[in-house]
Amino acid sequence: MRLAVLKERRPAETRVAATPETVKKFIALGCTVAIEAGAGLPSGIPDAEYAAAGAEVAPDAAATLNGANIVLKIRAPLGTGEGPVDELSLIPRGALMLGQLQASPEMAQTYAQLGIEAGAMELLPRITRAQSMDILSSQANLTGYRAVIEAAAAFDRGFPMLMTAAGTISAANVFVMGAGVAGLQAIATARRLGGRVSATDVRPAAKEEIKSLGAAYVGYESEESKQAQTAGGYAKQLSAEFYAEQAKVVAAHIAKQDIVITTALVQGRKAPTLVTAEMVASMKPGSVIVDIASDAGGNVALTQPGQFITTDNGVKIIGFNNWPGRIAGASSALFARNLLTFLTTFWDKEAKAPKLPPEDEIVKGVLLTHNGTVVHPSLAPAKA
Ligand code: NAD
Repeated sequence: MRLAVLKERRPAETRVAATPETVKKFIALGCTVAIEAGAGLPSGIPDAEYAAAGAEVAPDAAATLNGANIVLKIRAPLGTGEGPVDELSLIPRGALMLGQLQASPEMAQTYAQLGIEAGAMELLPRITRAQSMDILSSQANLTGYRAVIEAAAAFDRGFPMLMTAAGTISAANVFVMGAGVAGLQAIATARRLGGRVSATDVRPAAKEEIKSLGAAYVGYESEESKQAQTAGGYAKQLSAEFYAEQAKVVAAHIAKQDIVITTALVQGRKAPTLVTAEMVASMKPGSVIVDIASDAGGNVALTQPGQFITTDNGVKIIGFNNWPGRIAGASSALFARNLLTFLTTFWDKEAKAPKLPPEDEIVKGVLLTHNGTVVHPSLAPAKA
């Protein structure tokens, strides 16, 4: 089995899909590993470390992919006209490709036509057995941490109460909106820095999780919010009336906050707008909002995707994209381990090759294409 790891070429992508640690483990499974020269550098991993782990450092994408049976990616490979290299055309037929592919039905069709067995790791079911392969969780966790660090850096006071000979600086009020994986890590990080932390969510289970981390719960609860969670654990889209009531509670609270971290997502939809322009106008100058939902359309009406802006009333709004890429060393390490765990779970030790049983719940969730056909139910063309 030849396993290939490409340099990521999409804009602002700093992660890499394998680390020297995972390379060693793939070699122990019986693979040979080729890594494209320079692939690890934006994550702080020089080629020499991959070579020391036993990988062949290949000079370019073509040499890396030559003869590959498994291709590991962070983001979808570049296609024709998408960048300096047409990576897709270089992937051998029959190769298994894993990454955060975010494929459209058209892309899935292209993978099928090219004979690529494509696995979209972001579609992994959120079940206990799959937790250690869950790229959304591992990357969201680090994003929640990083968002608080960015907020602290942009804030012109400090998070903890500081008692000095020259007087006391009060603790920052930090409000986290959305208490999923990223939000819970943001709460924990803000608490560790000494902030006075509160948080909100619509899922009933989140209330206890917020409190268990030592933050105050702020929120609007109704009969509707008791049913706000899908079977998969995600928030449901709620009614306009619910969001209006939630906005009243948030508006009263937000005016007193120094830092707001927004993380709210509703699967398959644009992120809900939770912070209006009026709410931003009610905040004190110097306050900081970090909108980590910016990749999904943002939770803040004034967020400029990818930008750090300061409003007329002096509120800083950070809407960077690709948050995990801002902490690439750690994000790459966890993403790479998620891929390793997926492959070791579905590894045929005798054949020294991956074996993906089509009836397995995890395989069904992830696999987009098989034997030249789109097999994923959400992407397969409708049967006539
Ligand atoms: P997510 O990224 O989809 O959403 C982030 C948070 O935003 C969620 O907590 C959601 O409830 C919240 N939200 C949505 N609309 C909101 C609104 N109007 N106001 C306030 N908050 C709002 O969520 P996630 O981090 O992926 O986690 C979702 C759930 O999945 C959680 O229950 C988590 O524990 C669970 N989970 C399970 C596994 C597993 O078992 N393998 C893995 C990861 C997550």
